[in-house]
This record gives sequence, C-alpha cells and structure tokens, in this order.
Amino acid sequence: TKPPRSGAYRFLAVILAAFLLGLLAGYLVSSFAPKETASATASWLKALGDVFVRLIRIVIPLLILFTIAAATSSIASARKLGRILAWMLILYIGTSILAATWGVLGGVFFKPGEGIGLQVPKDYKPPTPPSGVDLLLSFFQPDFSNLLTVSGSMTMIIFAILLGVAAVLMGEPGRRVASGLSLLSSLMVKFVSVVMYYAPVAVFSYSAWLMISYGPAMLGAYARFLGVQYGFTLMHFFIVYSIIVYVGGLNPLKYFKAQLTPFLVAFTTRSSAVTLPFNMEAARKMGIPDEVFEITLPVGATVNMDGTALYQALSALFIAQLFGISLTPGQLGMAIMAAVIGSVATAAIPGGGTIMLAYVLSVLGLPLEGVGIMLVVDPLADAVRTAVNASGDNACTVLISRLTGYRLNPPQV
Ligand code: ASP
Repeated sequence: TKPPRSGAYRFLAVILAAFLLGLLAGYLVSSFAPKETASATASWLKALGDVFVRLIRIVIPLLILFTIAAATSSIASARKLGRILAWMLILYIGTSILAATWGVLGGVFFKPGEGIGLQVPKDYKPPTPPSGVDLLLSFFQPDFSNLLTVSGSMTMIIFAILLGVAAVLMGEPGRRVASGLSLLSSLMVKFVSVVMYYAPVAVFSYSAWLMISYGPAMLGAYARFLGVQYGFTLMHFFIVYSIIVYVGGLNPLKYFKAQLTPFLVAFTTRSSAVTLPFNMEAARKMGIPDEVFEITLPVGATVNMDGTALYQALSALFIAQLFGISLTPGQLGMAIMAAVIGSVATAAIPGGGTIMLAYVLSVLGLPLEGVGIMLVVDPLADAVRTAVNASGDNACTVLISRLTGYRLNPPQV
C-alpha cells in the first residue's frame, strides 16, 4: 500500500521542519546556555539521534540480503542481470572518478590548506591503513557475526547475489524461494517504515547537536576547507546529477524533489546505510522499476560514494598544503585513483570516509596525522558527503534503468 500523496508531503515537511528547528534550537542553546549545560544537552541530543541510527542498523544487513537476493532471483534472464551489473559498475566508477577530480581541482585552485597551520591532537594515534590483500579478504568475511554488521555489507552483497543465482539455477522450486525472499524483503521495508515514525526526532536532535558542537568551528580555521568542499560537492550534486538524470529520461526537478528526504536523512544521520530505505522510497517515487533499484541501491549504498571520493581527494591536497608538501601532477592523478578506491572501501557509517582517508594519505606518502586533523570537522564534512553519496546512487539508477531497457513508471512527485 502506498501512502497517500498528501501523507508523503507531510512527512517531507515534518523532516524539513525538524531539521530547521534543530538548527535553531542548537543555535539558541550554544549562544545562551552556560557551557556545561550546552555540552550536556549536546550529548543527550546526539544519543536521541543515535537511537534511530541503531534501530535502522539492526535491519540493514537483512534488508540488503533479502532485497538483493530477491531481486537477483526474480530476474529470469541472466543477460538482463548482467547488463544491470555492468552499467552499474561503469556509472558508479565513472561518477566517482569525476567527483575525485573536482576534489583535486578544488584543492589546486583554492588552496584551502595554505597558511592555516593546524596542531595535531596530542593523544592522536594514526590508524593503520589496510593493505590491498586485507581489503580483498575483507569483502569475503567467513564469520557470520561480522556479516551482520554494516562493515560486513560487502560480503552480504556478494552472498546475496550468489544466493539469488543459486535460486534461479534451482528451476521450478527456486521460484518459490524467490517469492519467499521477496516477502521477507517487504517485511524488512515495513520494519523500517515503523522506525520511520521516530525519524523527525532524530533529525531534530542531530541537527541541534551539530549546531551546538560544531557551530563555532564553522566560523573558524576550517571554514575554507569546508567552503571548497561544500561548493564542489553541491556542484557535483546539482550539475552532474541533473545531466545524468536528464539523459536517463527524468525531469531533474522531479529527481531533486523526490531526493530531498533521503538527502536530509543522510545529511543528519551521516550514514548511507541508514539512508538506504529512504533512497528506495524516493526511487519508487521517481518511477524507477523495483527490479533495478533493488539491486543498484543496496550495492550503491556500500560502494558508490561520490561525496567521499571528492572529500578524500580534496583532504589529501589540504593535508599536503598544511604541511607545505607540494604534489607533482603524477601524484595528483594518483590522488584521484586512491580516492576512488578509498571511497569504494569506505564503510557506509558516520566517519567511515575519514578512517579510510588513511589509505589515500599512505598511497601518496602524506603524513597520517592528517586523519586526526580532519577528525575535528568530520561531522560537518561527513554531512554533505553522505547526502551526495546517497543521492548519486539514485541519479545513476535512473540512467541504468534506461540503458538496460526498462521504462520509468510515471513519477509520483
Ligand atoms: N558517512 C559516509 C556514508 O555513510 C561515509 C563517509 O564517512 O565518507 O556514506
């Protein structure tokens, strides 16, 4: 059953209002409350938002498993599945390369790191970046308890696709498996819609917390980095995605309207995985066929992160500038490549991109202290990159539908 049109609008209005009220409340608390009261309020607000994120995270691995397995097993023609996967790979990687390129250009032209002179936090220890071998093996985790964490979602995707293929190869009884899987997948979606009643509280709490804890930093030393990052990331969102969606046969205005709710959810929760169900709802509103988005969105939430690729490339240049290290054109090219790989390997959780920044920095031979430096503004940098990470999946999915011969249903926005 679809919610009535007015209901969907009301939900969007409530989310938007919660976001703005949260910013306002946070501003008032940070300007007028005593410092201790403000920081205690901030911890409670963050906890209220965390409850939402934890509830959604419980169901994400199962949602990924059942939707991908159900979609794979229900696409009878292996050629169609192969084409979806092939176009998905091309578009996901292509848009990430483009995004990382903006990051490098932003760093080269605006030089946000020059003359800032940051201090490395004293208690900071750089994380060890994973080696290539570790990265590969992390996609195939043998331990079931690992599978049920968001960081195990790459394994879950591979497992789900193989499960779907196995169901197809079973023939007749496999069809019953397929319909069972799709029933379970609807159950998970319903679970999310129950939790969704709590979403406005979470969005309010998170935006107020962000304002209290990081409002002043926004005006401080990191402003230039954030200015360049927000500018280029939003440009990627508005210009590149408009073009992709338009070529895919959808009016970009309808795309942006449908995408607004997932955008705000991603902006405040800072997790693509948590945003996945909201992205699926938006895809349905855009008229994308279920068979397509049920594969591309769960995979995209895990591997396609344009905002993160841009952020990691720009951060690498920023760190180099802070330390007065100049990069050769060859190294700039490597920054793009490393950021694309880094963004694929980034877990779809808050702060995942900054942990994986260690990989990008180590490829370029830059000081790993950069991770600690970036942590200071991470909640703000994470907000916009996550919003664009999630939005990119839907933009590509519109075009994938067209390229694989599916027709869009009439949009519901
Ligand atoms: N928070 C981002 C996401 O979930 C990942 C990142 O930190 O870059 O998409």
